Amino acid sequence: MTERTELSTLGEFGLIDRLTNTIKCTQTSTIKGIGDDAAVIKYDHKVTLVSTDLLTEGIHFDLSYIPLKHLGYKAAVVNFSDIYAMNGVPRQLLISIAISNRFSLEAIEELYEGLRLACKKYDVDLVGGDTSSSASGTFMSLTVIGEAEEEKVVYRNTAQVGDLICVSGDLGAAFTGLLLLEREKEVFLANPNAQPDIENNDYVLQRQLRPEARKDIIAKLEELQIKPTSMIDVSDGLASELMHICHDSEKGCNIYENKIPIDFTTVKTAEEFNMEPLICALNGGEDYELLFTVDLKDYDKIVQFSEISIIGHITAASEGLNLITNAEQSIELTAQGWDAFKKGQ
Ligand code: ADP
Ligand code: MG
Repeated sequence: MTERTELSTLGEFGLIDRLTNTIKCTQTSTIKGIGDDAAVIKYDHKVTLVSTDLLTEGIHFDLSYIPLKHLGYKAAVVNFSDIYAMNGVPRQLLISIAISNRFSLEAIEELYEGLRLACKKYDVDLVGGDTSSSASGTFMSLTVIGEAEEEKVVYRNTAQVGDLICVSGDLGAAFTGLLLLEREKEVFLANPNAQPDIENNDYVLQRQLRPEARKDIIAKLEELQIKPTSMIDVSDGLASELMHICHDSEKGCNIYENKIPIDFTTVKTAEEFNMEPLICALNGGEDYELLFTVDLKDYDKIVQFSEISIIGHITAASEGLNLITNAEQSIELTAQGWDAFKKGQ
């Protein structure tokens, strides 16, 4: 291992200084970043979008297999994803951490390196936070602030009957990546310094350890002049997010098994674990793709967009939520319904 500097030798202010002294703000909306009692932000003629996430060690992350740099990166990106899911742009981030005394300065610096990378890539200013020690495990709370023109904000509860249901990218990969990591966990536990080399590892590990938010999709929709009628990001799995949209919009839906985008490597990994790839896509979660609905009039525009799959359509609430299988069977999207897909049943 490299150098290890105990946090106790720095003190709280020394640590904050080490972590933040090179952070610079570049957004015109950031009037004041780190260094005072509060950050100062100014959005002209826009609405402000605010979202927060609490991450608990052992519940939301497992430090035995997620490298700290990736944890920082992922924690930031999943927050940005919430702002994109409102059709907005993230601009500022705050992070509060309670750090277990098992951590050294170098470890926390790794975490910040990940945060910094994410902020750079997504053009977001880190404008503040809070720091504490923790007697039991590490906690992190991230708050992201973004902006949007009021009439462009897209909510979950505004899907209409006949709208097309669309999803970006592919689904289920992050979950199969997690299956792999859990299997490998024994190896990491035996040698705590061994961390997965995700640069050379396959797609599913990358999707789990270093997810990206679909900033590009939001930009493309804007370019094509498509405003989705409803939108949500896929953090808990396609089925769960569809339920949110349909429940909140008081609608039903039909989605088609053969339209659900699943990468070849996801299929391969799922089969290694004797799991149905479709189940991974429906229930897996952590894909951070965008699930949205568009009016039928936008069909011609959306269909030429290769990163987007049209997977079904919105129906009346009375029709329920259905998955139409390749065998043209209609299965209700409920927990019981998914069990029917398990291999060997
Ligand atoms: P206060 O006593 O007012 O809470 P702090 O000494 O905790 O002030 O923080 C000083 C400055 O450093 C503030 O701008 C705060 O937002 C920022 N800050 C504190 N902890 C962190 C952190 N972990 N990451 C980023 N910024 C931080
Ligand atoms: Mg403080």
